[in-house]
Amino acid sequence: MTPKPNIWSHLLGALWFLSSSLQYLQYQRLIHSVSLGDGIALGVYSFAVIVCFALSTFFHTFSDHSPGMHKFGNELDHLGIVLVLWGTGVSGAHFAFNCHERLEMAYIGFLSATAFGCGVFTLRPKFRQPAYRTTRFLLYLFLGASLFAPIAHGLVLYGYPVLNDMMGLESFLGLAVINFSGSAVYAARIPERWFPGTFDYIGQSHNLMHVLVLTGALVRLQGLLGVLEYWQGPLGQEPTDAPEIDTVMATRRL
Ligand SMILES: [Zn+2]
Repeated sequence: MTPKPNIWSHLLGALWFLSSSLQYLQYQRLIHSVSLGDGIALGVYSFAVIVCFALSTFFHTFSDHSPGMHKFGNELDHLGIVLVLWGTGVSGAHFAFNCHERLEMAYIGFLSATAFGCGVFTLRPKFRQPAYRTTRFLLYLFLGASLFAPIAHGLVLYGYPVLNDMMGLESFLGLAVINFSGSAVYAARIPERWFPGTFDYIGQSHNLMHVLVLTGALVRLQGLLGVLEYWQGPLGQEPTDAPEIDTVMATRRL
């Protein structure tokens, strides 16, 4: 039986993101000055998180309905993970290369192509056969790489402090560390491996992973809101950190 905390953690997470997105739209102080591209980047991230959590909620709610429904829900759950990786990468690449449109488009194009490939491999039963194992592995590897490649490139171009201001690098890395911890806890079956039966209903690795995923998503959301303030200024003014902006603008010519 699917433990109910797995349903509630992501249902409440999806509702939390939905309500905070709607609140953001009413957040006149920022919305007056936010550029269309920056608004879309934040929207893409929030949309991807909401859909990912909603698909996970669907899977955990209906997984005990029938074997067919379990398989279908499981595919949707995986599709949600691909979508949220794509949304996280797109928003990160946008802000990392806010002054370098061609690089931004190149990275978003690569991300979208690998995410599309992963989506197709997730949904088509044919590609789950062992013959496609290496291709499947490589596609997911490329998707992971396309999330971090713009970060590495941005670090070379701008350095840590400026890139951190530009795209909220610390919250991006925070999200990565928290999600990696969640995956490790899940894969290692902690803590139920040490106390069989004790955590069947609540507190088992799958619950902990859900809570960590939600925590990571909220950490990154806070980071992205800080990034918007950096680009727009807290009261709709231009950013005041002139030397850093000069450095950023200088890279337009790169
Ligand atoms: Zn789950």
